[in-house]
Amino acid sequence: MSNTTIFDKIISREIDAEIVYEDDIALAFKDINPQAPVHLLIIPKKPIATINDIAEDDRELVGHLFVVARKIARQHGFAKDGYRVVMNCNEDGGQSVYHIHLHLLAGQTLGWPPYANSAPKQVG
Ligand code: AMP
Repeated sequence: MSNTTIFDKIISREIDAEIVYEDDIALAFKDINPQAPVHLLIIPKKPIATINDIAEDDRELVGHLFVVARKIARQHGFAKDGYRVVMNCNEDGGQSVYHIHLHLLAGQTLGWPPYANSAPKQVG
């Protein structure tokens, strides 16, 4: 799957986003519908639709997203208090934009577990 998403338009600056970090490989910006006081999305510039589409050659790129998360956490002063990074996959995972992204959530104590009002499925 390599359809263009809204995140490609953010990368190309066709649409605005509040960008907080950028390098050759990744971009981080504020989520438009924040679920915590800090809610950022860290995306690769290379379009990869879902975790299922990550290739062996993408190891470094995917690892880089976590390095960016660590840098942002330190720069924004919440590294010590803590934060959560999440990557959703497909429908059951709650994915709505098919360009992989790490959600970086911080700024308050976060709840766990993440599911609500859903019955478990038989898997495996
Ligand atoms: P997910 O549901 O894991 O695919 O996450 C997609 C996220 O993208 C959601 O949290 C949305 O609020 C966010 N989002 C969608 N469109 C935009 C946008 N134009 N700018 C910033 N965040 C967006």
